[in-house]
Amino acid sequence: MKTVITKKPEETFALGEELGRKAAPGQVYCLNGDLGVGKTVFTQGFAKGLGIEGPVNSPTFTILQSYEEGRLPLYHFDVYRIGDVEEMEEVGYEDCFYGEGVSLVEWPTLVEEILPETAIWITIEKDLEQGFDYRKITIQ
Ligand code: ADP
Ligand code: MG
Repeated sequence: MKTVITKKPEETFALGEELGRKAAPGQVYCLNGDLGVGKTVFTQGFAKGLGIEGPVNSPTFTILQSYEEGRLPLYHFDVYRIGDVEEMEEVGYEDCFYGEGVSLVEWPTLVEEILPETAIWITIEKDLEQGFDYRKITIQ
């Protein structure tokens, strides 16, 4: 387990970028934390670290957005609006989780039953006593 404190969005982006540079095929990263903690900021850094230049935002009309132009394919899931785990099957999550790319899952607790045991959990927490932009990021 590793804990990183960030004090501005750029630092969370930079942590994502560092992990994106090191990411390996078949890894699944679960991004856990409340609305507005910085999961998407982290994802944007991660994408940059994989060499993806285009804009990366949370998919609005689907739970999965794929990016093929980086060092490895990136599968960005944001399951905030998911109704049923079956929707993960409909978008073909198994090919993502068990393929040659890297998956990032925002709101992983909503699809916990299909997450691989080997998933890497990244939890981002605020602590308002430490200031608005303070984030504690735990990697395990
Ligand atoms: P989520 O995807 O978790 O709902 P976003 O990444 O969309 O959250 O938004 C995080 C918001 O918090 C952004 O507006 C960002 O500028 C702000 N922010 C402030 N401090 C930080 C920090 N240390 N790390 C990440 N984001 C931060
Ligand atoms: Mg988000």
